[in-house]
Amino acid sequence: MQNREYGNLVAGEIRTSASRENTPDINPADTREVLGVFPSMTEDEVVEAVESAAEAFRAWKDLTPIARGAYLFQAANLFRDRAESIARDITREVGKTIKEARVEVANTANFFEYFAGFGRQPQGDHLPDERSGVFTYTQREPIGVVGLITPWNDPLLTTARKLAPALISGNTVVLKPAPDTPLAAWHLAEVFRDVELPGGVINTVTGSASMIGNVLLEHPAVNGISFTGSTRVGKELTRRAGERSELRIQTEMGGKNASLVLADADFAKSADTIVAGAFAQGGQRCTATSRVVVTEEAHGSLMETLVARTQDIRVGNGLDESTAMGPVVNQGQLDRILGAVERGKDEGGTVVAGGSRLTEDAYEHGYFVAPTVIDGVDPEAGVAQEEIFGPVLSVIRTSDLEEGVRIVNGTGYGLSASIFTENLAAAHYFARHAEAGNISVNLPTAGWSVHLPFGGFKDSGSAFKEQGREGLQFYTRVRTVAMNVTPR
Ligand code: NAP
Repeated sequence: MQNREYGNLVAGEIRTSASRENTPDINPADTREVLGVFPSMTEDEVVEAVESAAEAFRAWKDLTPIARGAYLFQAANLFRDRAESIARDITREVGKTIKEARVEVANTANFFEYFAGFGRQPQGDHLPDERSGVFTYTQREPIGVVGLITPWNDPLLTTARKLAPALISGNTVVLKPAPDTPLAAWHLAEVFRDVELPGGVINTVTGSASMIGNVLLEHPAVNGISFTGSTRVGKELTRRAGERSELRIQTEMGGKNASLVLADADFAKSADTIVAGAFAQGGQRCTATSRVVVTEEAHGSLMETLVARTQDIRVGNGLDESTAMGPVVNQGQLDRILGAVERGKDEGGTVVAGGSRLTEDAYEHGYFVAPTVIDGVDPEAGVAQEEIFGPVLSVIRTSDLEEGVRIVNGTGYGLSASIFTENLAAAHYFARHAEAGNISVNLPTAGWSVHLPFGGFKDSGSAFKEQGREGLQFYTRVRTVAMNVTPR
Protein backbone atom coordinates (compact mmCIF):
# COMPACT_ATOMS: atom_id res chain seq x y z
CA MET A 1 0.00 0.00 0.00
CA GLN A 2 1.16 3.51 -0.83
CA ASN A 3 2.19 5.49 2.28
CA ARG A 4 0.06 8.54 2.96
CA GLU A 5 1.89 11.73 2.04
CA TYR A 6 1.38 14.47 4.59
CA GLY A 7 2.13 18.16 4.11
CA ASN A 8 2.77 21.18 6.28
CA LEU A 9 0.45 23.97 7.36
CA VAL A 10 1.72 27.21 5.85
CA ALA A 11 -0.34 30.40 5.45
CA GLY A 12 -3.49 28.47 6.36
CA GLU A 13 -3.10 25.77 3.68
CA ILE A 14 -1.62 22.30 3.61
CA ARG A 15 1.43 22.38 1.35
CA THR A 16 3.75 19.67 0.09
CA SER A 17 7.33 20.45 -0.83
CA ALA A 18 8.96 21.11 -4.20
CA SER A 19 11.91 19.03 -2.94
CA ARG A 20 9.91 15.78 -3.45
CA GLU A 21 12.03 14.33 -0.62
CA ASN A 22 10.13 12.61 2.15
CA THR A 23 10.91 11.19 5.57
CA PRO A 24 9.01 8.10 6.74
CA ASP A 25 7.30 8.15 10.14
CA ILE A 26 7.94 4.69 11.65
CA ASN A 27 6.24 2.79 14.47
CA PRO A 28 8.99 1.87 16.98
CA ALA A 29 6.94 -1.09 18.30
CA ASP A 30 6.88 -2.61 14.80
CA THR A 31 9.25 -0.96 12.37
CA ARG A 32 7.47 -2.57 9.43
CA GLU A 33 4.64 -0.07 9.92
CA VAL A 34 5.07 3.32 8.26
CA LEU A 35 2.50 5.83 9.50
CA GLY A 36 3.03 8.17 6.59
CA VAL A 37 5.71 10.26 4.94
CA PHE A 38 6.47 13.91 5.64
CA PRO A 39 8.13 16.37 3.28
CA SER A 40 11.63 17.78 3.60
CA MET A 41 10.97 21.43 2.91
CA THR A 42 13.36 23.59 0.95
CA GLU A 43 14.93 26.67 2.50
CA ASP A 44 12.68 28.95 0.41
CA GLU A 45 9.61 27.13 1.72
CA VAL A 46 10.74 27.58 5.34
CA VAL A 47 11.31 31.27 4.65
CA GLU A 48 7.77 31.45 3.23
CA ALA A 49 6.47 29.93 6.48
CA VAL A 50 8.29 32.61 8.49
CA GLU A 51 6.97 35.34 6.21
CA SER A 52 3.45 33.99 6.48
CA ALA A 53 3.76 34.17 10.28
CA ALA A 54 5.08 37.74 10.02
CA GLU A 55 2.15 38.75 7.79
CA ALA A 56 -0.41 37.11 10.12
CA PHE A 57 1.15 38.80 13.17
CA ARG A 58 -0.17 42.22 12.11
CA ALA A 59 -3.82 41.27 12.58
CA TRP A 60 -3.41 38.57 15.28
CA LYS A 61 -1.71 40.92 17.73
CA ASP A 62 -4.56 43.42 17.31
CA LEU A 63 -7.30 40.96 18.22
CA THR A 64 -8.40 41.28 21.82
CA PRO A 65 -6.81 38.65 24.07
CA ILE A 66 -10.37 37.50 24.81
CA ALA A 67 -10.92 36.78 21.10
CA ARG A 68 -7.58 34.95 20.89
CA GLY A 69 -8.54 32.96 23.96
CA ALA A 70 -11.77 31.87 22.26
CA TYR A 71 -9.73 29.99 19.62
CA LEU A 72 -7.73 28.27 22.36
CA PHE A 73 -10.88 27.22 24.24
CA GLN A 74 -12.30 25.74 21.03
CA ALA A 75 -9.03 23.92 20.35
CA ALA A 76 -9.09 22.43 23.88
CA ASN A 77 -12.57 21.08 23.19
CA LEU A 78 -11.55 19.58 19.86
CA PHE A 79 -8.56 17.84 21.44
CA ARG A 80 -10.96 16.30 23.97
CA ASP A 81 -13.34 15.22 21.18
CA ARG A 82 -10.50 13.61 19.22
CA ALA A 83 -8.58 12.32 22.24
CA GLU A 84 -8.72 8.62 21.50
CA SER A 85 -7.70 8.74 17.84
CA ILE A 86 -4.89 11.25 18.52
CA ALA A 87 -3.69 9.17 21.49
CA ARG A 88 -3.54 6.04 19.31
CA ASP A 89 -1.43 7.88 16.72
CA ILE A 90 0.93 9.15 19.43
CA THR A 91 1.38 5.59 20.69
CA ARG A 92 2.04 4.32 17.16
CA GLU A 93 4.44 7.15 16.45
CA VAL A 94 6.53 7.37 19.64
CA GLY A 95 5.89 4.03 21.36
CA LYS A 96 4.54 5.19 24.74
CA THR A 97 1.59 3.29 26.17
CA ILE A 98 -1.94 4.23 25.19
CA LYS A 99 -2.62 5.23 28.80
CA GLU A 100 0.34 7.60 28.71
CA ALA A 101 -0.78 8.96 25.35
CA ARG A 102 -4.30 9.63 26.69
CA VAL A 103 -2.79 11.63 29.55
CA GLU A 104 -0.71 13.56 27.03
CA VAL A 105 -3.76 14.55 24.98
CA ALA A 106 -5.74 15.44 28.11
CA ASN A 107 -2.94 17.70 29.33
CA THR A 108 -2.60 19.25 25.90
CA ALA A 109 -6.27 20.30 26.14
CA ASN A 110 -5.56 21.57 29.68
CA PHE A 111 -2.70 23.76 28.38
CA PHE A 112 -4.94 25.45 25.81
CA GLU A 113 -7.76 25.90 28.31
CA TYR A 114 -5.47 27.24 31.04
CA PHE A 115 -3.74 29.81 28.84
CA ALA A 116 -7.02 30.76 27.12
CA GLY A 117 -8.15 32.04 30.52
CA PHE A 118 -5.35 34.63 30.53
CA GLY A 119 -7.27 36.44 27.78
CA ARG A 120 -9.45 37.84 30.58
CA GLN A 121 -6.59 38.60 33.00
CA PRO A 122 -4.82 41.98 33.40
CA GLN A 123 -2.39 42.67 30.55
CA GLY A 124 -0.31 45.13 32.58
CA ASP A 125 -0.29 47.31 35.69
CA HIS A 126 -1.45 50.80 36.53
CA LEU A 127 1.43 52.45 38.42
CA PRO A 128 1.73 55.61 40.49
CA ASP A 129 3.94 58.36 39.03
CA GLU A 130 6.03 60.79 41.08
CA ARG A 131 4.79 63.66 38.87
CA SER A 132 1.25 64.77 39.60
CA GLY A 133 -1.20 64.62 36.74
CA VAL A 134 0.73 61.82 35.05
CA PHE A 135 -1.07 58.56 34.28
CA THR A 136 1.37 55.65 34.04
CA TYR A 137 0.84 52.05 33.11
CA THR A 138 2.64 49.03 31.74
CA GLN A 139 1.40 46.90 28.92
CA ARG A 140 2.51 43.37 28.08
CA GLU A 141 2.70 42.88 24.34
CA PRO A 142 3.73 40.03 22.03
CA ILE A 143 7.30 39.76 20.75
CA GLY A 144 6.37 38.81 17.15
CA VAL A 145 7.15 35.63 15.24
CA VAL A 146 8.34 32.81 17.47
CA GLY A 147 10.07 29.60 16.34
CA LEU A 148 9.15 26.52 18.38
CA ILE A 149 11.58 23.60 18.22
CA THR A 150 10.41 20.42 19.93
CA PRO A 151 11.65 16.89 20.68
CA TRP A 152 9.78 13.63 20.14
CA ASN A 153 9.14 12.33 23.65
CA ASP A 154 5.93 14.31 24.39
CA PRO A 155 5.31 15.57 20.89
CA LEU A 156 1.92 17.16 21.49
CA LEU A 157 2.35 18.23 25.10
CA THR A 158 5.72 19.94 24.71
CA THR A 159 4.36 21.85 21.74
CA ALA A 160 1.16 22.88 23.57
CA ARG A 161 3.26 24.11 26.52
CA LYS A 162 4.86 26.62 24.12
CA LEU A 163 2.07 27.25 21.65
CA ALA A 164 -0.66 28.15 24.15
CA PRO A 165 1.23 31.01 25.87
CA ALA A 166 2.64 32.16 22.51
CA LEU A 167 -0.82 32.48 20.94
CA ILE A 168 -2.71 33.99 23.86
CA SER A 169 -0.01 36.68 24.07
CA GLY A 170 -0.51 37.59 20.40
CA ASN A 171 2.54 35.99 18.77
CA THR A 172 2.49 33.95 15.60
CA VAL A 173 4.41 30.72 15.30
CA VAL A 174 6.63 28.55 13.11
CA LEU A 175 6.75 25.05 14.59
CA LYS A 176 9.53 22.58 13.81
CA PRO A 177 8.56 19.16 15.20
CA ALA A 178 11.04 16.31 15.71
CA PRO A 179 11.41 14.02 12.67
CA ASP A 180 10.25 11.01 14.73
CA THR A 181 6.89 12.63 15.55
CA PRO A 182 5.55 14.83 12.75
CA LEU A 183 2.09 13.21 12.96
CA ALA A 184 1.46 14.76 16.38
CA ALA A 185 2.23 18.17 14.88
CA TRP A 186 -0.10 17.35 12.00
CA HIS A 187 -2.95 16.69 14.46
CA LEU A 188 -2.22 19.97 16.15
CA ALA A 189 -2.29 21.84 12.84
CA GLU A 190 -5.56 20.11 11.91
CA VAL A 191 -7.23 21.10 15.17
CA PHE A 192 -6.30 24.74 14.65
CA ARG A 193 -7.38 24.66 11.01
CA ASP A 194 -10.72 23.23 12.12
CA VAL A 195 -11.29 25.99 14.66
CA GLU A 196 -10.57 28.39 11.77
CA LEU A 197 -7.55 30.03 13.29
CA PRO A 198 -6.52 32.79 10.85
CA GLY A 199 -4.05 31.53 8.22
CA GLY A 200 -0.38 32.06 9.06
CA VAL A 201 -0.82 32.23 12.84
CA ILE A 202 0.56 28.68 13.10
CA ASN A 203 2.90 27.28 10.46
CA THR A 204 4.62 23.90 10.59
CA VAL A 205 7.94 23.07 8.94
CA THR A 206 9.57 19.65 8.52
CA GLY A 207 12.98 18.89 7.05
CA SER A 208 16.63 19.47 7.79
CA ALA A 209 17.11 20.68 11.38
CA SER A 210 20.23 22.69 10.62
CA MET A 211 18.62 24.48 7.65
CA ILE A 212 15.42 25.25 9.60
CA GLY A 213 17.52 26.29 12.60
CA ASN A 214 19.54 28.68 10.41
CA VAL A 215 16.40 30.30 9.01
CA LEU A 216 14.89 30.75 12.49
CA LEU A 217 18.14 32.14 13.89
CA GLU A 218 18.83 34.49 11.00
CA HIS A 219 15.49 35.70 9.61
CA PRO A 220 14.91 39.26 10.89
CA ALA A 221 11.17 38.60 11.41
CA VAL A 222 11.84 35.95 14.06
CA ASN A 223 12.11 37.48 17.54
CA GLY A 224 12.07 34.38 19.71
CA ILE A 225 12.98 30.71 19.70
CA SER A 226 11.59 28.37 22.32
CA PHE A 227 13.58 25.14 22.24
CA THR A 228 13.13 21.86 24.08
CA GLY A 229 15.71 19.15 23.49
CA SER A 230 19.24 18.16 24.35
CA THR A 231 21.65 20.39 26.24
CA ARG A 232 24.13 20.15 23.38
CA VAL A 233 21.75 21.60 20.78
CA GLY A 234 20.17 24.06 23.24
CA LYS A 235 23.54 25.56 24.15
CA GLU A 236 24.59 25.85 20.52
CA LEU A 237 21.35 27.63 19.60
CA THR A 238 21.77 29.94 22.62
CA ARG A 239 25.29 30.84 21.53
CA ARG A 240 24.15 31.65 18.03
CA ALA A 241 21.01 33.50 19.14
CA GLY A 242 23.29 35.86 21.10
CA GLU A 243 24.43 37.32 17.78
CA ARG A 244 21.07 39.08 17.22
CA SER A 245 19.96 41.39 20.04
CA GLU A 246 16.30 41.24 19.00
CA LEU A 247 16.25 37.44 19.26
CA ARG A 248 15.50 35.89 22.64
CA ILE A 249 15.78 32.17 23.35
CA GLN A 250 14.22 29.88 25.90
CA THR A 251 15.80 26.46 26.37
CA GLU A 252 14.44 23.44 28.21
CA MET A 253 17.19 20.84 28.05
CA GLY A 254 18.45 17.59 29.46
CA GLY A 255 18.31 16.21 33.00
CA LYS A 256 19.93 13.64 35.27
CA ASN A 257 17.23 13.67 37.89
CA ALA A 258 17.82 12.04 41.25
CA SER A 259 15.69 10.72 44.09
CA LEU A 260 17.30 10.71 47.53
CA VAL A 261 16.01 8.01 49.91
CA LEU A 262 16.66 8.36 53.65
CA ALA A 263 16.47 5.63 56.28
CA ASP A 264 13.13 6.86 57.67
CA ALA A 265 11.32 6.62 54.30
CA ASP A 266 8.42 4.27 53.60
CA PHE A 267 10.43 1.88 51.39
CA ALA A 268 7.54 0.19 49.61
CA LYS A 269 5.92 3.49 48.60
CA SER A 270 9.30 5.03 47.73
CA ALA A 271 10.18 2.08 45.50
CA ASP A 272 6.81 2.23 43.70
CA THR A 273 7.14 5.96 43.14
CA ILE A 274 10.75 5.75 41.95
CA VAL A 275 9.97 2.89 39.55
CA ALA A 276 7.09 4.91 38.07
CA GLY A 277 9.32 7.98 37.77
CA ALA A 278 12.16 6.02 36.17
CA PHE A 279 10.36 3.75 33.71
CA ALA A 280 7.15 5.51 32.59
CA GLN A 281 7.54 6.33 28.90
CA GLY A 282 10.57 4.03 28.90
CA GLY A 283 12.49 6.65 30.87
CA GLN A 284 12.23 9.00 27.90
CA ARG A 285 11.10 12.01 29.88
CA CYS A 286 13.26 14.98 30.70
CA THR A 287 12.10 14.63 34.32
CA ALA A 288 12.50 10.83 34.50
CA THR A 289 14.31 9.56 37.59
CA SER A 290 17.74 8.51 36.42
CA ARG A 291 19.63 8.18 39.73
CA VAL A 292 18.62 6.86 43.14
CA VAL A 293 20.83 8.10 45.94
CA VAL A 294 20.15 5.94 48.98
CA THR A 295 21.66 5.89 52.47
CA GLU A 296 23.60 2.75 53.47
CA GLU A 297 20.98 1.92 56.12
CA ALA A 298 18.11 2.14 53.65
CA HIS A 299 19.80 0.37 50.74
CA GLY A 300 18.85 -3.28 51.44
CA SER A 301 15.16 -2.65 52.20
CA LEU A 302 14.67 -0.28 49.28
CA MET A 303 16.43 -2.47 46.71
CA GLU A 304 14.38 -5.54 47.51
CA THR A 305 11.14 -3.84 46.42
CA LEU A 306 12.74 -1.67 43.73
CA VAL A 307 14.20 -4.64 41.85
CA ALA A 308 11.03 -6.73 42.21
CA ARG A 309 8.81 -3.89 40.91
CA THR A 310 11.17 -3.24 38.01
CA GLN A 311 11.14 -6.90 37.00
CA ASP A 312 7.32 -6.88 37.13
CA ILE A 313 7.01 -4.16 34.46
CA ARG A 314 5.22 -5.55 31.43
CA VAL A 315 7.03 -4.40 28.29
CA GLY A 316 5.17 -4.49 24.98
CA ASN A 317 3.33 -2.70 22.23
CA GLY A 318 1.83 0.44 23.76
CA LEU A 319 -1.52 -0.15 22.06
CA ASP A 320 -2.07 -3.20 24.26
CA GLU A 321 -3.96 -1.89 27.33
CA SER A 322 -1.97 -4.17 29.63
CA THR A 323 1.43 -2.83 28.55
CA ALA A 324 3.24 -0.82 31.21
CA MET A 325 6.27 0.19 29.13
CA GLY A 326 6.56 0.55 25.36
CA PRO A 327 9.61 0.51 23.08
CA VAL A 328 12.19 3.29 22.84
CA VAL A 329 11.73 5.63 19.94
CA ASN A 330 14.39 4.70 17.37
CA GLN A 331 17.57 2.80 16.60
CA GLY A 332 19.80 5.68 17.76
CA GLN A 333 18.11 5.75 21.17
CA LEU A 334 18.35 1.96 21.43
CA ASP A 335 22.09 1.99 20.71
CA ARG A 336 22.69 4.85 23.12
CA ILE A 337 20.81 3.13 25.94
CA LEU A 338 22.49 -0.26 25.47
CA GLY A 339 25.87 1.50 25.23
CA ALA A 340 25.20 3.26 28.54
CA VAL A 341 24.40 -0.07 30.23
CA GLU A 342 27.69 -1.56 28.98
CA ARG A 343 29.53 1.49 30.19
CA GLY A 344 27.86 1.22 33.60
CA LYS A 345 29.15 -2.35 33.92
CA ASP A 346 32.66 -1.37 32.77
CA GLU A 347 32.67 1.35 35.39
CA GLY A 348 32.04 -1.20 38.16
CA GLY A 349 28.25 -1.18 38.44
CA THR A 350 26.20 -4.38 38.79
CA VAL A 351 23.10 -4.90 36.68
CA VAL A 352 20.43 -6.16 39.11
CA ALA A 353 17.44 -5.94 36.74
CA GLY A 354 17.14 -5.94 32.93
CA GLY A 355 20.27 -4.87 31.08
CA SER A 356 19.54 -5.99 27.54
CA ARG A 357 17.46 -5.59 24.41
CA LEU A 358 14.31 -7.75 24.07
CA THR A 359 14.09 -9.47 20.70
CA GLU A 360 11.99 -12.63 21.06
CA ASP A 361 8.54 -13.14 19.52
CA ALA A 362 6.42 -9.97 19.79
CA TYR A 363 9.55 -7.91 20.37
CA GLU A 364 11.18 -9.00 17.11
CA HIS A 365 10.38 -5.91 15.02
CA GLY A 366 10.57 -3.21 17.69
CA TYR A 367 13.07 -1.26 19.77
CA PHE A 368 12.36 -2.93 23.13
CA VAL A 369 14.70 -2.72 26.12
CA ALA A 370 14.20 -4.39 29.49
CA PRO A 371 13.85 -1.86 32.34
CA THR A 372 17.28 -1.77 33.90
CA VAL A 373 18.68 -1.08 37.36
CA ILE A 374 22.42 -0.76 37.92
CA ASP A 375 23.54 -0.95 41.53
CA GLY A 376 26.82 0.17 43.09
CA VAL A 377 27.33 3.11 40.73
CA ASP A 378 30.03 5.64 41.56
CA PRO A 379 28.58 9.19 41.62
CA GLU A 380 31.33 10.34 39.23
CA ALA A 381 30.87 7.47 36.75
CA GLY A 382 29.74 8.37 33.24
CA VAL A 383 26.50 6.45 33.72
CA ALA A 384 25.73 8.69 36.73
CA GLN A 385 26.77 11.91 35.03
CA GLU A 386 25.45 11.77 31.47
CA GLU A 387 21.83 11.80 30.45
CA ILE A 388 20.75 8.40 29.06
CA PHE A 389 17.11 9.24 28.32
CA GLY A 390 16.00 5.64 28.54
CA PRO A 391 14.87 2.95 31.01
CA VAL A 392 18.08 2.82 33.04
CA LEU A 393 18.27 3.66 36.74
CA SER A 394 21.60 4.01 38.54
CA VAL A 395 21.76 3.36 42.29
CA ILE A 396 24.36 5.28 44.29
CA ARG A 397 24.97 4.82 48.01
CA THR A 398 25.52 7.69 50.45
CA SER A 399 26.20 8.09 54.15
CA ASP A 400 23.69 10.81 55.09
CA LEU A 401 21.43 13.67 54.00
CA GLU A 402 24.18 16.26 53.47
CA GLU A 403 26.37 13.98 51.37
CA GLY A 404 23.27 12.76 49.53
CA VAL A 405 22.36 16.31 48.53
CA ARG A 406 25.94 16.90 47.34
CA ILE A 407 25.64 13.81 45.12
CA VAL A 408 22.21 14.92 43.84
CA ASN A 409 23.79 18.26 42.94
CA GLY A 410 26.96 16.73 41.51
CA THR A 411 26.10 16.82 37.81
CA GLY A 412 25.86 19.67 35.30
CA TYR A 413 22.09 19.28 35.17
CA GLY A 414 19.41 20.74 37.44
CA LEU A 415 15.95 19.88 36.19
CA SER A 416 14.10 17.96 38.92
CA ALA A 417 14.92 16.14 42.14
CA SER A 418 13.00 14.40 44.89
CA ILE A 419 13.51 13.16 48.44
CA PHE A 420 11.79 10.31 50.29
CA THR A 421 11.64 10.87 54.02
CA GLU A 422 9.19 11.29 56.89
CA ASN A 423 11.46 13.93 58.46
CA LEU A 424 10.10 17.45 57.95
CA ALA A 425 13.45 19.12 58.61
CA ALA A 426 15.17 16.89 56.05
CA ALA A 427 12.47 17.67 53.48
CA HIS A 428 12.96 21.41 53.99
CA TYR A 429 16.75 21.06 53.87
CA PHE A 430 16.42 19.26 50.55
CA ALA A 431 13.93 21.79 49.12
CA ARG A 432 16.40 24.60 49.96
CA HIS A 433 19.65 22.94 48.90
CA ALA A 434 18.88 20.66 45.95
CA GLU A 435 19.92 22.52 42.79
CA ALA A 436 16.93 21.86 40.57
CA GLY A 437 14.07 23.92 39.19
CA ASN A 438 11.46 21.40 40.34
CA ILE A 439 11.66 19.68 43.72
CA SER A 440 9.31 17.08 45.14
CA VAL A 441 8.97 15.32 48.48
CA ASN A 442 7.63 11.75 48.61
CA LEU A 443 6.58 12.23 44.98
CA PRO A 444 8.17 11.33 41.63
CA THR A 445 10.64 13.64 39.88
CA ALA A 446 8.19 13.80 36.96
CA GLY A 447 4.60 15.05 36.67
CA TRP A 448 4.08 18.83 36.87
CA SER A 449 0.61 20.20 36.06
CA VAL A 450 0.09 22.87 33.42
CA HIS A 451 -0.28 25.72 35.91
CA LEU A 452 2.94 24.96 37.84
CA PRO A 453 6.04 26.87 36.72
CA PHE A 454 8.41 24.39 35.14
CA GLY A 455 12.03 24.58 34.02
CA GLY A 456 15.54 23.58 34.92
CA PHE A 457 18.53 25.26 36.51
CA LYS A 458 22.17 24.94 35.34
CA ASP A 459 22.56 23.04 32.05
CA SER A 460 18.88 22.02 32.09
CA GLY A 461 17.26 25.35 31.33
CA SER A 462 17.34 29.10 30.84
CA ALA A 463 16.07 32.14 32.72
CA PHE A 464 12.62 31.78 31.18
CA LYS A 465 10.31 29.27 32.85
CA GLU A 466 7.53 27.44 31.05
CA GLN A 467 3.99 26.76 32.33
CA GLY A 468 1.95 28.79 34.81
CA ARG A 469 1.88 32.56 34.86
CA GLU A 470 5.69 32.60 34.49
CA GLY A 471 5.26 30.84 31.15
CA LEU A 472 3.94 34.07 29.61
CA GLN A 473 7.11 36.05 30.22
CA PHE A 474 9.12 34.64 27.36
CA TYR A 475 6.35 35.48 24.89
CA THR A 476 5.80 39.08 25.99
CA ARG A 477 7.75 42.28 26.37
CA VAL A 478 6.78 45.14 28.68
CA ARG A 479 6.09 48.65 27.46
CA THR A 480 5.87 51.44 30.07
CA VAL A 481 3.69 54.41 29.16
CA ALA A 482 3.55 57.74 31.04
CA MET A 483 0.95 60.33 29.97
CA ASN A 484 0.68 63.87 31.18
CA VAL A 485 -3.08 64.19 31.43
CA THR A 486 -3.18 67.44 33.42
CA PRO A 487 -6.07 69.48 32.01
CA ARG A 488 -5.01 72.75 30.35
P1 NAP B 1 17.64 17.09 20.23
O1 NAP B 1 18.47 16.19 19.42
O2 NAP B 1 18.31 18.25 20.89
O3 NAP B 1 16.48 17.63 19.26
C1 NAP B 1 15.43 18.46 19.72
C2 NAP B 1 14.87 19.20 18.53
O4 NAP B 1 15.85 20.12 18.06
C3 NAP B 1 14.52 18.29 17.34
O5 NAP B 1 13.38 18.79 16.69
C4 NAP B 1 15.77 18.44 16.47
O6 NAP B 1 15.56 18.13 15.12
C5 NAP B 1 16.04 19.93 16.67
N1 NAP B 1 17.37 20.35 16.28
C6 NAP B 1 18.55 19.69 16.36
N2 NAP B 1 19.55 20.46 15.88
C7 NAP B 1 19.00 21.64 15.50
C8 NAP B 1 19.50 22.84 14.92
N3 NAP B 1 20.79 23.02 14.67
N4 NAP B 1 18.63 23.83 14.66
C9 NAP B 1 17.33 23.69 14.91
N5 NAP B 1 16.78 22.58 15.44
C10 NAP B 1 17.61 21.57 15.76
O7 NAP B 1 16.85 16.32 21.37
P2 NAP B 1 15.99 14.98 21.21
O8 NAP B 1 16.90 13.83 21.17
O9 NAP B 1 14.98 15.16 20.14
O10 NAP B 1 15.19 14.99 22.59
C11 NAP B 1 15.69 14.46 23.75
C12 NAP B 1 16.27 15.56 24.62
O11 NAP B 1 15.25 16.51 24.94
C13 NAP B 1 16.77 15.05 25.95
O12 NAP B 1 18.00 15.65 26.24
C14 NAP B 1 15.70 15.52 26.94
O13 NAP B 1 16.12 15.69 28.26
C15 NAP B 1 15.30 16.81 26.32
N6 NAP B 1 13.98 17.24 26.81
C16 NAP B 1 13.93 18.27 27.71
C17 NAP B 1 12.71 18.68 28.24
C18 NAP B 1 12.63 19.80 29.24
O14 NAP B 1 11.55 20.34 29.45
N7 NAP B 1 13.73 20.18 29.89
C19 NAP B 1 11.54 18.04 27.82
C20 NAP B 1 11.63 17.00 26.90
C21 NAP B 1 12.86 16.61 26.39
P3 NAP B 1 16.33 16.86 14.45
O15 NAP B 1 15.92 15.68 15.27
O16 NAP B 1 15.81 16.89 13.07
O17 NAP B 1 17.79 17.11 14.58
